[in-house]
Amino acid sequence: MAEDTPRRDTTLETVVIVGAGHAGGRAALLLRRHGFAGRILMLGAEPALPYERPPLSKGFLKGTTSAADMSLRSAQDWAEAGIEHIGGCTVTRIDPESRRVTLADGRSFGFDHAICATGGRARPLALPGAEALLMLRDLADARALRSRLGSCRRLLVVGGGVIGLEVAATAAGCGCAVTVLEAGPRVMARVLPPEASAWLAGLHAGNGVQIRTGVTLERVLPRGTGIAAQTAEGVIEADLGLCAIGILPEPGLVSGARHGASHGLLTDEYCRVEGAGPHVYAIGDIAETPNPVLGRPLRLETWRNAETQAAAVARTLCGTATPACETPWMWTDQFGCNIQVVGVWEGRGERLWRGAPGAPGSVLFWHEGGRPLGAVLIDAGRERRFVEGLVAAGKPVRPEALADPAQRLKSLLPSAVPAA
Ligand SMILES: Cc1cc2nc3c(=O)[nH]c(=O)nc-3n(C[C@H](O)[C@H](O)[C@H](O)COP(=O)(O)OP(=O)(O)OC[C@H]3O[C@@H](n4cnc5c(N)ncnc54)[C@H](O)[C@@H]3O)c2cc1C
Repeated sequence: MAEDTPRRDTTLETVVIVGAGHAGGRAALLLRRHGFAGRILMLGAEPALPYERPPLSKGFLKGTTSAADMSLRSAQDWAEAGIEHIGGCTVTRIDPESRRVTLADGRSFGFDHAICATGGRARPLALPGAEALLMLRDLADARALRSRLGSCRRLLVVGGGVIGLEVAATAAGCGCAVTVLEAGPRVMARVLPPEASAWLAGLHAGNGVQIRTGVTLERVLPRGTGIAAQTAEGVIEADLGLCAIGILPEPGLVSGARHGASHGLLTDEYCRVEGAGPHVYAIGDIAETPNPVLGRPLRLETWRNAETQAAAVARTLCGTATPACETPWMWTDQFGCNIQVVGVWEGRGERLWRGAPGAPGSVLFWHEGGRPLGAVLIDAGRERRFVEGLVAAGKPVRPEALADPAQRLKSLLPSAVPAA
């Protein structure tokens, strides 16, 4: 697996990776690929070896993707790469001073470098009876949800964010009658501009999902073998309920670390944790890292951010200081439609559609004075890298050109050579 040669002898060094999820697993693999020759120890709360989570709310729930399909590598590959994994253990402290991590069971391990990749846990609802609602963050959650969905005719989803809507779409596709309760005025409001939320709500409605916005859940009561959800407007009965209201990162693990505005571990551009000296890094959903596109620290909960930050830290630890530069990007699949979001929706910017609103191939841009800040791509993945280029460049483009599907986005990039 070795590809590069580190600039120093790493044979006697130890990297401890706390959290054996997507980012942690990728960091371990890439450390080896870039030539790290020392000990790599992954400590994870889940029993499973590292795997990718996106199918949990999509193919795994439908039964078209297996746990093995989601694994980053097979058990044999990890062993062959000389990467140690201790599963089912909870780390309670990463101490930069003594360079030790401590586990809940009393064990402790020394490190030369530690990488905190603990993601976040599903945010619980602090309401009477809410423990009757399932959650979805890991394989065990997805297994529980999948087994209950089999006999579920009516599903209640609390939270109209990405995960809630993906589960709603998957369950509706399996014949469930689905109701989504969203406390805010629209769905996926943290990620999408209002026009895209409206289009997405329409997609769900067209597929039989009832989306009820501006509705606050008050309590959950047992009702027969199912639940009754009480809201100010009345009671909704369901066979099964899912709580999908976001995640809680837990940054308290790293002694002395500074926490950011979105409760992540603040890092520098190399993902080194602020306040924790030069040997502790944070990557993935837990990390709040300066974003060159937005010009401020950003905590991203996306597959690609986990990849980008793992790659940057692996290179840095192997001697090539590499900042984690990420133009924010995520995707979601709902009712066979692929929706990609480039940039971060911050509630500002003029919107314009390129193509018929919501049609396959259309793109909703938001921009300030022609400077593209972000975009939603609807079944338009082929345009993604050009949209990313436009957002990352931060240069004004004529809005009419952005809106005109006959004008290739590639030709609007600052580096594009004008056509002769
Ligand atoms: C259902 C679902 C669907 C998703 N779909 C998409 C998608 O379509 N597109 C997209 O871009 N992103 C998607 N994501 C987000 C993406 O999967 C995450 O951004 C990514 O997994 C983050 O990687 P991570 O390593 O930071 O966290 P994780 O992959 O969550 O790994 C963190 C690991 O750390 C462990 N851990 C936590 N605390 C401790 C501790 N104290 N001690 C030891 N171990 C600990 C956890 O158990 C976990 O195994 C989805 C996420 C979920 C849950």
